[in-house]
Amino acid sequence: MMSERAIIVTGASRGIGAAISEHLAQAGFIVGCLSRSGELPRREQASAIVRSRWIGLAADVTNPATVRNAIEHVAARGTIVGLVNNAGLHTEARSEELAISDWNALLAVNATSVLACSQSVYPHLVRHRSGLIVNIGSFFDKLGVKRNLAYCASKAAVAAMTRVLAVEWAAAGIRVLNVAPGYIVTDLNRAQMMEGPLKAYLSKRIPAGEPGSADDVAHLVASFFDIEVPFLTGETIYIDGAQGVAH
Ligand code: NDP
Repeated sequence: MMSERAIIVTGASRGIGAAISEHLAQAGFIVGCLSRSGELPRREQASAIVRSRWIGLAADVTNPATVRNAIEHVAARGTIVGLVNNAGLHTEARSEELAISDWNALLAVNATSVLACSQSVYPHLVRHRSGLIVNIGSFFDKLGVKRNLAYCASKAAVAAMTRVLAVEWAAAGIRVLNVAPGYIVTDLNRAQMMEGPLKAYLSKRIPAGEPGSADDVAHLVASFFDIEVPFLTGETIYIDGAQGVAH
């Protein structure tokens, strides 16, 4: 009997990672849902079939040993064919006041973890000489956003890592993509984004008129696992309502 295909999603308990976990399970994949809490994705409307394909796992992406344990757990249930590096942290500070410890903490979650988690799935993907790693970056990777030095730098690092990993691992049949969202409404930021000064600012700045949804990003990510395009690798794909290219 052919084993089921499994994908690891980091930061899967809520927000964009939860939506990605639902869309991938709907597409028939077993999904290893990693977060520090290990809670199943917060998606009230998810069907029983989707829930049966989720494996909730407590792992901290800044602690590679916990990630490796979680991945082995998933490997016992299905063949690992992919990884979505989604876990992320966003903090703001003026650069002259940014504590080095805060810079290190943000880079550890947003950038270093992409290397650590990718290294952890590599032996599984290389065994079958195929696999897809999707990193979740941000359109801030090409912008200079006030109070966002660490976040912008971390997402630029993710775009760079996407290119290098794609080049190094292409011969092993492993593709690496970077999906870079613009402003996305999630449960955590809904109040902030849909009311008050930020809503007015965003409706002026986003050519598409309003922020995107976690489902928009999840649709795109799931489509990359659905339609296999072997020549597509190493690229950043922006999903930002054209905000990043507007002048
Ligand atoms: P949320 O804050 O809503 O969710 C973050 C997820 O990551 C949670 O599941 C959290 O679970 C998990 N997480 C945080 N730290 C760790 C850790 N050290 N180890 C394991 N899991 C961790 O984030 P969003 O859904 O808003 O963002 C997801 C990704 O999308 C991030 O990379 C973000 O930078 C990117 N992005 C988001 C945008 C937006 O507008 N929302 C725009 C552009 C990019 P737990 O606390 O249990 O660990």
